Amino acid sequence: MMKAIAVERDDPDPHVIELPEPTPDEGKALVRTLRVGIDGTDFEVIGGTHGGFPAGDDYHVLGHEAVGVVEDPNGTDLEAGQVVVPTVRRPSAESNEYFERGEPDMAPPELCLERGIDGAHGYMAEYVTSPAEYLVPIPDGFADVGVLVEPMSNAEKAIDLASASRSSFEWEPKAGLVLGNGPLGLLTLALLENRTDVDRTYCLGRRDRPDPTIDVIERLGATYVDSRETPVDEVAAAHEPMDVVVEATGYAKHAFETIDALAPNGVGALLGIPDDWSFEVDGGRLHSEFVLNNKALVGSVNSHLEDFESAKRTLEAAPDWFPEAVMTDVFSPEEVEAAFTRDKSRIKTVIEFDSL
Ligand code: NAP
Ligand code: BGC
Ligand code: ZN
Repeated sequence: MMKAIAVERDDPDPHVIELPEPTPDEGKALVRTLRVGIDGTDFEVIGGTHGGFPAGDDYHVLGHEAVGVVEDPNGTDLEAGQVVVPTVRRPSAESNEYFERGEPDMAPPELCLERGIDGAHGYMAEYVTSPAEYLVPIPDGFADVGVLVEPMSNAEKAIDLASASRSSFEWEPKAGLVLGNGPLGLLTLALLENRTDVDRTYCLGRRDRPDPTIDVIERLGATYVDSRETPVDEVAAAHEPMDVVVEATGYAKHAFETIDALAPNGVGALLGIPDDWSFEVDGGRLHSEFVLNNKALVGSVNSHLEDFESAKRTLEAAPDWFPEAVMTDVFSPEEVEAAFTRDKSRIKTVIEFDSL
């Protein structure tokens, strides 16, 4: 038997359960889990506003940001001892064109499951199995940092999609704004900092100093913007119009306020996953603002294998202090209650099942 962290239909708080150790089917490898990270999406899953249980099961193993080591390659091309990061999406039925093209991130929700999030068990277990094609090898020295690869890959995809929408003309982004100082926001900020073309970066939160996220923002060389003093639609006037904005708050009004934060020909990428929320917007003005200034907004979810490769490179290029400054807390599976307690002194919380 092995330990796993799950929610159950009659117990929605994450807790340790015992499950049989999995045996890999043909084409799948057995992976010993090292670490699994927690992000805002996990809280949305636990809160029941996003994702759902695997069909027919009364429990849902959590966790989608994982790093592990191949225990049994089981005839696949992987090697025992190789450190790997699993991807999140799997086809909901046999397969479909998106997965066949290597673009699972572009599949609509009904054509995919998401491990640890939607309809499939996740990686918070001592052992997991996965088709080898969904396991991304990373260097051994990257094992501790490996939990940042999946969320960074989501930021990579968002920036790619946004840049693609500006590819028909000479676009030279100089000013970039990240909305949100959670783990996704800070990873996205590190990614923008790593781009040589973006000279000036900003990151928006709603915290008082001292705060560990503001420290990271300023150490990265960005300007902290407090949304309580400077709402998103006033950022352009208070600072400067932004060539690129990435929303990582999950605060629905930011999607619309982003239009006013953008410079002419700018692009905003939306990543947050808000609950339903109705509010009024000045639709006519925003519509013409979009059109007359060639602005764009793109929604972006998940990532594909090339984004995982880009994420590895971006994390390698990040300042040495960055991964540790972001991964503020490491808990054992038995400390599950503390691990899932939201606390502003933490940025990325990690559950460690084992070490190399
Ligand atoms: P998180 O830990 O909940 O971080 C969200 C951050 O935004 C928090 O630091 C929060 O500040 C800040 N924030 C919220 N509303 C704000 C406002 N009005 N003004 C200023 N700051 C505000 O979540 P995360 O893990 O970083 O992820 C962010 C969002 O992206 C979540 O909705 C998540 O589900 C989603 N996500 C999407 C993808 C994708 O592929 N599309 C990938 C990963 C995550 P406080 O902490 O001070 O409240
Ligand atoms: C995960 C993505 C997933 C998205 C939507 C994010 O937190 O990292 O892999 O596609 O949530 O569920
Ligand atoms: Zn995530």
